[in-house]
Amino acid sequence: MSAIVIAAVIGVNLGLIFLLLAAPLGRRRLVASVSIDAGMERVWNAVWPLGPDAGWSGEILSAEPIGEENARVRIGLSHEGRDGKPIERTVRLEAVRPGEGFCLRVESDSALDDVFWENFRERIELSERDGVTRLSLTQSDRYRGLAFLAFRYFRLRRHARGLKRWAETGRKPVGGLFEHPVTQLGFAVLSTFLLWPFFGLTVQGFVLSSCLTLTVALHELGHLAAFRLMGHKKVRMIFVPILGGIAIGGRPYDSRFEVAFVALMGAGFSAFLVPVAVLASTVAGAAGYYYAAALLAVLAAFIAFFNLANLIPVWRFDGGQVLRQICGGKFSLALAAFTVLGAFLWLGLFAGFDPGIILVVGAVFAVLSLLTAGGAVRPRHALKSVGRLEALALGAALVATFVIHASALLWAWDEYRRYRSGRAPVVAVVSVADRDTLAARVGAAHERAVLAEGNAVQA
Ligand SMILES: [Zn+2]
Repeated sequence: MSAIVIAAVIGVNLGLIFLLLAAPLGRRRLVASVSIDAGMERVWNAVWPLGPDAGWSGEILSAEPIGEENARVRIGLSHEGRDGKPIERTVRLEAVRPGEGFCLRVESDSALDDVFWENFRERIELSERDGVTRLSLTQSDRYRGLAFLAFRYFRLRRHARGLKRWAETGRKPVGGLFEHPVTQLGFAVLSTFLLWPFFGLTVQGFVLSSCLTLTVALHELGHLAAFRLMGHKKVRMIFVPILGGIAIGGRPYDSRFEVAFVALMGAGFSAFLVPVAVLASTVAGAAGYYYAAALLAVLAAFIAFFNLANLIPVWRFDGGQVLRQICGGKFSLALAAFTVLGAFLWLGLFAGFDPGIILVVGAVFAVLSLLTAGGAVRPRHALKSVGRLEALALGAALVATFVIHASALLWAWDEYRRYRSGRAPVVAVVSVADRDTLAARVGAAHERAVLAEGNAVQA
C-alpha cells in the first residue's frame, strides 16, 4: 500500500470525524409533524408539561409550577442523574395559547451546565381539521457536528410517532428499533461486510474483517461491563459501521475515577482475553491445528493493535481520558502523555513500522486532539476528584494493559516473521499490506461521540 493511499484513507477518516463531531453547523431547526386521529384536547393534555397526561411516555415523572402564573415549571425526568436520582429541569413556557401551542426553553438542569441549553428552543403547535389533530414539534439549537444533530432529529421523530400511537391507542411507546439488539447485530454484520474490501475480497479477507468486528465488539463490551460495575442500571452499545462502536451508560459520569475506569476497561477487558488467545494459538499450533493457531494469532494481533490504538494518550482516546483524570496538573499531564506516546513510537519502530507512517499517524493524532478539544458536554457540578491511591491503581492498570497488548502484538509479528521465513508452521494470514491498511483504518477511526444528552459515552 503506497503512502499516498494511506494518506488518503487517513484524510477521509479525519474529514468524516470532523463532520460528525466537530464541524460548526450554526443554528439548525428540526421539525417533526404528525396527524393524530384524536381530539386536540387529548393531545394537548399530553404535550403541555402541566397537563394531566404529561407522563404519557414515562419520561416526565413530575411537574410543578414555580410561582403563580405557570410560566416556569420544575420537571422531574425519568433519566437518572449522577447520583442515581431523577434529573430535574426547570423550563420556561412562553407564548402560551392554551390548547393550541407554546414555546419552551430550558433554564436549568440538575445534570448539565446551563451553557448546554443556552441556544435550545422548542415550539409545540396543535391544529385540528375534521377531527384529526395536526401536531408539529420544532426544535432549534446551535450544533457542532452532524452526529448530535442526527441524534436529536431521530429522537424528535420517535417522540412525535410515539405520541400519535399513545393518543390513538393508549399504548405506551416501546424501545427504539435502532437500539434493539437485533438491529445492532445487523450493524455488526453490515460493518463486517463494509470492511471486507479493505482486506481484499477473498475468504481470508472476510475472516480478517470478522476479526476486526469481533475486536470492536469486545472493546465496547469492556466499557459496558465497567459501566455496570460502576452501578449504571441501563447500558447500551451502538455499532457504527466502519467507524467502530460506542458504549452509552445509564446516567452521566459522577467521578473522575469512574471516567478513567470506564475508559480503561475498553482495552482492560481484552487484556484478560489476549493472553488466553496467545496461549490457545501456541497449543493449537503445537498440536498441528495450524489454521486454528493462525486464526487465534490474528485475533490476538487485531485485539492488541486496536486496543493499543485506543490507549494513545491524546484527548478523545481512552488513553487520553485515563491520563486526564489521574494527572493533577498540566505539567504532569504533558509529561505522562509524552512518556506514553514515546512508548508507542518505540513499539511502532520495534515492530518494524515505516518511520514515515509513524510520523504521519502521530501528526494525525495531534490534529485530531486539536479538532475535537473542548467538545465534551460539561456537567453542572465538577466531577468528584480522584484520590492518590486510586490514581496510582489506575496508572498501574494502564501500564499493565499497555504491556499486555504490546507483548501480544510483538509476539504476533514474531510469529508472522517466522512464518514468512518458513521456519514456523503457523499459517499467518496477515500480509504487510493488510497491516498498513489496518494501521490507517483503526488509527483514525476511533472517536467518541457525545450522542446521549449528557449521558456517559465511551467509544
Ligand atoms: Zn474505547
